[in-house]
Amino acid sequence: MTYNKKNIEDVEVAGKRVLVRCDFNVPLKDGKITSDKRIVEALPTIKYLMGKGAKVILCSHMGKPKGAVVPKYTLAPVAARLTELLGTTVELAADTIGPDAKAKAAALKDGQAVLLENTRFDPREEKNDPEFAKELASMADIFVNDAFGAAHRAHASTAGVAQHGGLPAVCGYLIQKEIGVMGKALSDPARPFVAILGGAKVADKLNVINNLLTKVDTLIIGGGMAYTFLKAKGYEIGTSLFDETKVDYCRDMLAKAEEKGVKLLLPIDTVIAKSFPDPIDAEIEVATVDSDKIPADMMGLDIGEKTRVLFADAAKAAKTVVWNGPMGVFENPTLAKGTISVAQALADSEAITIVGGGDSAAACEQLGFASKITHISTGGGASLEFLEGLELPGIACLEDK
Ligand code: AMP
Repeated sequence: MTYNKKNIEDVEVAGKRVLVRCDFNVPLKDGKITSDKRIVEALPTIKYLMGKGAKVILCSHMGKPKGAVVPKYTLAPVAARLTELLGTTVELAADTIGPDAKAKAAALKDGQAVLLENTRFDPREEKNDPEFAKELASMADIFVNDAFGAAHRAHASTAGVAQHGGLPAVCGYLIQKEIGVMGKALSDPARPFVAILGGAKVADKLNVINNLLTKVDTLIIGGGMAYTFLKAKGYEIGTSLFDETKVDYCRDMLAKAEEKGVKLLLPIDTVIAKSFPDPIDAEIEVATVDSDKIPADMMGLDIGEKTRVLFADAAKAAKTVVWNGPMGVFENPTLAKGTISVAQALADSEAITIVGGGDSAAACEQLGFASKITHISTGGGASLEFLEGLELPGIACLEDK
């Protein structure tokens, strides 16, 4: 997959019907949007198209209605919020490819926008059904994909429209930024290139570790996944998170790092406690020990102070840093220091800094560091697949420059 895709500025959009796939899958509580971040992030593309006089047909999925019309997953709250944010009415069609959608799309004047109802109200969306994709495409002259969060799924509205619809297919500003920054990091990074991985399970990041070992100068592993690596090195890890089935894999990765000349950093000290905090944010008594001295009845729950310095120094010396996954049980204030120190190191770094994954992104935002990070990815699953080196169908289907 190349990362150099045509974008909305590369096609003539004035007076054209432009179908834009957005990621409006916003969190809702009692029918109210609790964070409109994803809508706000889609605005630059929508405003550009409306400003150029395009007739803008917006579509998105919301939640998991599993191919049925489930009223609680209507995009009505999104249409209302878009109307507020754009200062002009964005009507919601009652269906996705039905008579109301087609009538409303056909009635659009230049510079106006309409939102189609939830694409996943139709079972053919997730099956990437060619007929459904063609029906969607039939309403438009151009397809724009700007839903990075859904780009790892080959669905009718993400990839099918481009594959079966016969429309010019380009990316919006959001996808352009994602593939611009992350694609460069993976294909031609400013070096030293440092990746920091954390989170609970090694099993979730096997392919990411494997792929990044072929790209980075330094790979840092913290969080719960580090203990299987420590065990693979022969350390006692007490009752820390451990995946017995992945010890050999970790050993292979340690050997691969050495063979490739990649510095692989693991925690040199660890914050330990008698048990996992319950509830997760409960007050907890902790101690810090060197990583090879974890007592048999204790559990590692965060990186220690020496490790925080080690990881932060590596991040600060880098020219490109990618971070995905917390360094400890950051939901607990006593166990959040490792995650905070990594977020701080990225914020202080002069490097190109890229944060992916919900937890790490949320940490940067809560700490007020978001503006100091080069790029916070909008897609958890999609950004992980990107780091795995996989082709994302919603991007691969777009036209190369
Ligand atoms: P993930 O979903 O894989 O990104 O992992 C995120 C979760 O990992 C968070 O909920 C953390 O609490 C958890 N986590 C991080 N470090 C540890 C650890 N040392 N032991 C247990 N859980 C951890």
